[in-house]
Amino acid sequence: MSATLDQQVSECRALYEQVWNTPWPTLELTRSPLMQPASLSLTLEERTRLTYQRARALAHAYNLTLKDVVEMTPAFWKLHMDLLTAMDGGAINLLSVGYNLFVGTVAPFAATHPELADIIQRALRVDISAQFMLTELGHGLDARNLETTATLLPNGGFDLHTPTPNAAKCMPPNTPRNGLPTIAVVIARLIVEGEDRGVRPFLVPMSDGTNMCKGVTSKAFPPRPGANPIDHALTYFNHVHLPASALLGTLEKPRNERDNFLSTIHRMGAGTLFLAGGCIPLIKMAVYNASKFSFRRHIVGHDGLPMPVMNFRTQHLPILHAIARAQVLQAFLIYAGRERLRFITSTRVLRR
Ligand SMILES: Cc1cc2nc3c(=O)[nH]c(=O)nc-3n(C[C@H](O)[C@H](O)[C@H](O)COP(=O)(O)OP(=O)(O)OC[C@H]3O[C@@H](n4cnc5c(N)ncnc54)[C@H](O)[C@@H]3O)c2cc1C
Repeated sequence: MSATLDQQVSECRALYEQVWNTPWPTLELTRSPLMQPASLSLTLEERTRLTYQRARALAHAYNLTLKDVVEMTPAFWKLHMDLLTAMDGGAINLLSVGYNLFVGTVAPFAATHPELADIIQRALRVDISAQFMLTELGHGLDARNLETTATLLPNGGFDLHTPTPNAAKCMPPNTPRNGLPTIAVVIARLIVEGEDRGVRPFLVPMSDGTNMCKGVTSKAFPPRPGANPIDHALTYFNHVHLPASALLGTLEKPRNERDNFLSTIHRMGAGTLFLAGGCIPLIKMAVYNASKFSFRRHIVGHDGLPMPVMNFRTQHLPILHAIARAQVLQAFLIYAGRERLRFITSTRVLRR
């Protein structure tokens, strides 16, 4: 085994230990009323706010820093694997998008934009709802063809506009129902003197937690069956005026449009990885519930005595199989995640 391979294996082992075998910072939170199953009598607005409050409580329990998000430290991995994420998928969705896609996209510009430090801190603590708007109604996996425009104005600011219904930003939660001021990174096409200069991230206020900002309209989607409701929506911009500081990046035309697009959305890879890893706490929760039930539920056996249904091979085999699967996935996530993140980092460096 080469020294490099040895080193990689021991780094994987160390990360595995830190993610899976250290105490979980949410043990106290687990017992709090906030994390108990929600009453069925709550209104849609109350259910939505509950999920945002849970996201905030998770954020406070982990207390991650900008460094944790940028360097994707073990604490950052651990947050995404916390068992509490399984009891409210909406909460981890909000946190993961806020950290990976909002903070992760804004962070590289913080050195040259001192005003971003405060917004980043508020996003980390979930004092604001921090969103990332790339997908459009007509452009999902072909987001490179997105249509939203940000046109440079003579005063140095920008006119942000949704030119067609297909260009509505699709999915990011964005209604005052959440009760938090909402700010989004909006990926739009930069237009300078009629020339398309490729996509850029723009920092755009959406609402103050009570009212939508001028020129911004959102249409909430109906709740999705089986998911905790958050206010997923379509968002439209009607000639919204942005200050010059809203642009994260330069006005220059990039040398390579594709590379510019990929570097603009560079945190998508990490976001996808960590959200997919969320299946591990879900499997564990399902296994726990199935096991508890199978030990508690008794039937009368051939000998006339009560026995738990766990004794049946058809009951315990799938449960054992799922336990094994979760263990393998725990290790695979660490290995595949490190490989993927190494690839993302190296290609990002090459592009710059
Ligand atoms: C719960 C949820 C939250 C979301 N949150 C956000 C968010 O915060 N911000 C944001 O910007 N977006 C968000 N999205 C949007 C999400 O990123 C898009 O759904 C995703 O990019 C896929 O786009 P689409 O659904 O339009 O699929 P489409 O582009 O319509 O693709 C559908 C299917 O067609 C096939 N396909 C399409 N193109 C190709 C190709 N080139 N090669 C091979 N097969 C192909 C694939 O099977 C693909 O799965 C969210 C979506 C969901 C469901």
